[in-house]
Amino acid sequence: MKRLMILLFAGFSACTGPAPKETTPSVQLFVSETTINQTIDSLKQKKGITNVIRLEKGVKHAASLWHAEDGTSDDFVIFCKTNYVVNETERELLFDKVSKNFESIFGHFNKMSLDLKENVDLNNGPMLEIDKEFSAYSVGAHLLSDLYSNKIAFIVALNFPYYSLEEKGKFNESVTRKEWAMARLGDIFVSRVPAELQQASAKAGADADIYISEYNIEMGRLRTDSGKQLFPDKMVLLSHWNLRDEIKASYANKETGKEKQEMIYKVMERIINQDIPEKVINNPNLQWMPYTNKVFENSKEISCTAEPNKRYQQIINNFKAEKAIDAYSPEMNTFILRKFSGEMEVPQVEVELLFDEYLRSPQLAKIAAIIEKRLGRSLRPYDIWYDGFKARSVIPQEELNSRTTLRYPNPKAFEADMPNMLGKLGWPNERAQYISAKIAVDPARGSGHAWGAQMKGEKAHLRTRIPETGMDYKGYNIAVHEFGHNVEQTISLYDIDHYLLNGVPNTAFTEALAFIFQSRDLQLLGINNSNPDQEQLNTLDTGWSLMEIMGVGMVDMKIWKWLYAHPESTAAELKAAVQTITKDVWNTYFSPVFGIKDEPILGIYSHMISNPLYLAAYSYGQIIEFQLEEHLNGKCFPNEIDRIYKQGRIIPQRWMEGAVGSKLSVKPIMNKLDKAIK
Ligand SMILES: [Zn+2]
Repeated sequence: MKRLMILLFAGFSACTGPAPKETTPSVQLFVSETTINQTIDSLKQKKGITNVIRLEKGVKHAASLWHAEDGTSDDFVIFCKTNYVVNETERELLFDKVSKNFESIFGHFNKMSLDLKENVDLNNGPMLEIDKEFSAYSVGAHLLSDLYSNKIAFIVALNFPYYSLEEKGKFNESVTRKEWAMARLGDIFVSRVPAELQQASAKAGADADIYISEYNIEMGRLRTDSGKQLFPDKMVLLSHWNLRDEIKASYANKETGKEKQEMIYKVMERIINQDIPEKVINNPNLQWMPYTNKVFENSKEISCTAEPNKRYQQIINNFKAEKAIDAYSPEMNTFILRKFSGEMEVPQVEVELLFDEYLRSPQLAKIAAIIEKRLGRSLRPYDIWYDGFKARSVIPQEELNSRTTLRYPNPKAFEADMPNMLGKLGWPNERAQYISAKIAVDPARGSGHAWGAQMKGEKAHLRTRIPETGMDYKGYNIAVHEFGHNVEQTISLYDIDHYLLNGVPNTAFTEALAFIFQSRDLQLLGINNSNPDQEQLNTLDTGWSLMEIMGVGMVDMKIWKWLYAHPESTAAELKAAVQTITKDVWNTYFSPVFGIKDEPILGIYSHMISNPLYLAAYSYGQIIEFQLEEHLNGKCFPNEIDRIYKQGRIIPQRWMEGAVGSKLSVKPIMNKLDKAIK
């Protein structure tokens, strides 16, 4: 987790892709066009000016951030004349100082956040009310505005211009690592969004989170039309994750599995269409027949109203909050641009083209035929979650549990074993010690996570929840995933040549290494899980789940495009649009694979409500992981991981070329699917 860097860099990087919407009003610049041109002209007269492009970019960019409270137009002119650094050597010196101090600022704020949240995040004794207050206190909240008022932000903007994603994509071989780092410095101050708009956006997001986190279905209270109960009394499932997982788990149940899956899918349809009786949500006191939609209280049928499109109102609230920010982000004036060209650094059109290519691939219908054969029936829509290809360890769960509980009775035991684990993956002892010494393992209060350092000298933290009886296999499997994150966080901070290039291009790149580690968890336990067919089965599993996650990512993107085309729409209008979009995406890509039409299932994902436009990143994580695994095959694992993750935060396509010699592509997985299908 890189909370502070996310705060600072979120949406502050680059722009390309679709042209800005004409309907978006841009904020009136405080510094006029005339003043900007006069400033540039007078600076051109300065002795030694050779790089006119840098000068023009710098002045224009600094002007775009200048507000009335920063001074008059004349003040702006004087500021530029005083602070523009002509000499390249002096500019490098300026860069070194900014870089050193930013490492200290970001690093210490990150450290403070870790400390202040410690009693909430860690299971280390009683929690007082004040612990929650400290945990919620955002120490870095005023940092950006401070950097504007003391003019540091303007000195940076003036001397280290911002390059769009398209411009960065054109950086050739002659661009040095230091110049890449300078371009990253230019990304920090790209837009200046008023605090109240940022707060409104955070509030809309938090409200949507709460709405989703309380959306439980009481499975024990569901009945078929004939009054039959299919699920255990106390089973409560959160939409949509737990509902989906129950569909997955039901494949193993040969008797009532399909009946259960059908009922869960009916519940999902009711949620998507918002004809679910509002009273049955998160309510253990009512019985509900999802097929007829009848509700009973104490065996007596009662009348209930449907949920009044609240699901879609959350999306509209998010949209309105983000749209208000558009005008303050001249470089990326839609949420779509900020999420894709900004955060992910892949233009949205490129993402959609890649998804389209994969979702149309003929291999998918062939995997479908294999699944049909295995299931002995024709496919149903919820078979997008078929998980029968997954590696089932030949070793019983109990034995795995006993191994992990014995080996890892507490977090310190896991920490002490890290050099040994890295050794098993091939790292030489000295290097394994070097990496492990920079990772601390802590007892998590909730579920685990990995939280990286933001300055050299600080440790990354692996948070894991270990019961008194020791770490069970499930917990171990997740801890190994987090360990992968920590190794990435360590290499990409400690072994990076320029601090401003620390990290990875986007979250998909750290997830890739986390999954690469996780898939080697049995090897780390010293277990050889040899099933000769497993590699082929894994490929089929990856291919099938990639289809599912791309499908919902596609729906998410189309919803936001529709919102921008219909900014005044109501929740009811949005619902109708989502119903059309989900069916269109289904009919275009899934219907040829499943042989059924007009299914709404792709509209159920909760991320669309609480974490808009994030789903596409999951697909990228899977593609990157796959390309990396292909590349690592037969090579020296630790050397390649070190080399690849030392690239740092250059742009995604460059990173991939540097890592595996080719751009991000679905071709490798399609080729491997061909072999696996045979
Ligand atoms: Zn992860």
